[in-house]
Amino acid sequence: MSWQERCERAATALLLEQRAVTGLASDPKALGAGRGILFDSYAGYCARAGITKYQLTGGSRLPDGCTLQLGDLCLVLTDDAGAGGARRRRFTQAHELGHILLGHAGDGPQQEREADRFASALLMPAPVVFELWRRTGRRSAAELADWFFVTISAAETRTGMLLARGSCRWGKDEQELVRRYAPAIAAALADRHPVTV
Ligand SMILES: [Zn+2]
Repeated sequence: MSWQERCERAATALLLEQRAVTGLASDPKALGAGRGILFDSYAGYCARAGITKYQLTGGSRLPDGCTLQLGDLCLVLTDDAGAGGARRRRFTQAHELGHILLGHAGDGPQQEREADRFASALLMPAPVVFELWRRTGRRSAAELADWFFVTISAAETRTGMLLARGSCRWGKDEQELVRRYAPAIAAALADRHPVTV
């Protein structure tokens, strides 16, 4: 299995653990909580731990997100005051989840690619995207960004990736995912904004 497929399947497996699908934009925090992974902002963590941001970083610039291993506990921290807002933060949280669930020990270039691929697949699951595209007959990154509450740049990357593949694996898990997302897909299509193509 290719590393891309491994990342896609790990994301699909996690999405299938949701008790209920309430919309197209899944919540990385809720998905992580199911696996015992906690989330906080840098500011929130510093306040709780009684330390300053400087003590946390030693003065170096904070990345968009990072994961602290505290005993058995994984704590994902994100910069909630950072540029890009909630859409970018969701991707950062999903990226950190990817590092944890894919069992990464470091963060070299390949691990970064894999965490990004996992985040893309978690926030814009290929089977759900292909189903939306099949139903609408369109392939718009802007629409994808709004449906899944991600940045336009994340949606463009995912659109390019999926168009290059042309289709996705349609195994049991992928079919089940589309079945569970059916109400969310219908709702998204019912109140979609007019789009000119
Ligand atoms: Zn990373």
